[in-house]
Amino acid sequence: MCLALAASCSREKTTKEQRWSFAEEGVVFDAEFLRARLSECERIGPGEYGMVIRPENMPVNNSPWFAFKVSAAKERPIVVRLRCQGGSVRYRPKISLDGTQWVTLPAEAYETGPGEHECTLRLEAGPQTLWVAAQELVSTDEMMAWARTLERLPFVTYSQFGQSINGRPMFRLDVGKTDAARHVSIIGRQHPPETTGSLALMRFVEEIAGDSELARTFRQEFHVLVMPLINPDGVDAGHWRHNLGHVDLNRDWGPFAQPETKAAAEQIAALSKPGRLFLHLDFHSTFKDVFYTQADDEPSSPAGFTARWLEGIQKRVPEYAVNREASPTPKPTTSAYWAHHTFGIPSITYEIGDNTDRALLKRVAANAAQEMMTLLLEMKDAK
Ligand SMILES: [Zn+2]
Repeated sequence: MCLALAASCSREKTTKEQRWSFAEEGVVFDAEFLRARLSECERIGPGEYGMVIRPENMPVNNSPWFAFKVSAAKERPIVVRLRCQGGSVRYRPKISLDGTQWVTLPAEAYETGPGEHECTLRLEAGPQTLWVAAQELVSTDEMMAWARTLERLPFVTYSQFGQSINGRPMFRLDVGKTDAARHVSIIGRQHPPETTGSLALMRFVEEIAGDSELARTFRQEFHVLVMPLINPDGVDAGHWRHNLGHVDLNRDWGPFAQPETKAAAEQIAALSKPGRLFLHLDFHSTFKDVFYTQADDEPSSPAGFTARWLEGIQKRVPEYAVNREASPTPKPTTSAYWAHHTFGIPSITYEIGDNTDRALLKRVAANAAQEMMTLLLEMKDAK
């Protein structure tokens, strides 16, 4: 019942009457679904359509998200000229017949230009609806289904906390015993288009909830709090970056002016009383794979975790280049900065490239989880 309620109240607010029918060619573009974003659409020639996508508000990070469906009365090729207003083309379009299985458009069907704001897509439209999107949707429904599946495991619980601006309950997964003495915090999807971050987070958590001897031992000693969807309203509304309050949530860990960050921070803070929080991970996507970390000479407890963890991942996945950087500029209102300074723990922003091979990012995530469990078990009594 909660699920249905959450979905319907979100739908009311995010559905914009956005459907464009072109009778002369029997072509219909549809942006009336959760995750959709298409701001304008017009026919500019035979079989040729011009589209504009705009962000939720300005200024905004350059993450021009788009998602729409197209169908045609009869099978026919169409050309879509897509223009990003407020950003330059960033995502390579993907297509799907079911909204779940996605294929990236190859060079024969896609080109950028003229200029950095435009690109051209060559699509095969037909009676069966074709989904077109900047990245795999990894929608709130998909993430909820994933969470409810994990909940069926005897040592995983699902519960709700707080509310988004749109009144949607937020959800958390608890892996292991919540009254454990030792805790890890994992969050994700503060930024709606960052689906590769979600894919990595899910694989990472599956490994902790997995059937390896390591995972079973780890769950005896540690509890893991997972809040995989910090910005459900922004994800549903197809936002480029913000929540419904027009705020970048990863710049609100300090002010806590937004209900989503405030509620999430309260969940994390509760872990340190009376237990001990060992690590905070925040999953994102950007142009490349990178772990943003504290410097090694910055005190944190357990000491030395970050350097050993990243070295361990590198050894486990030799074909992958582990890339570590200090946060580009001091950003005192990110979740990673907040968790480090509030609890004195290693706190890492786990960034996956937009175009990182999906099989590779899952392999790295699984190995990163194994290495984390191994190290934390070793360090469980460390200062
Ligand atoms: Zn991000």
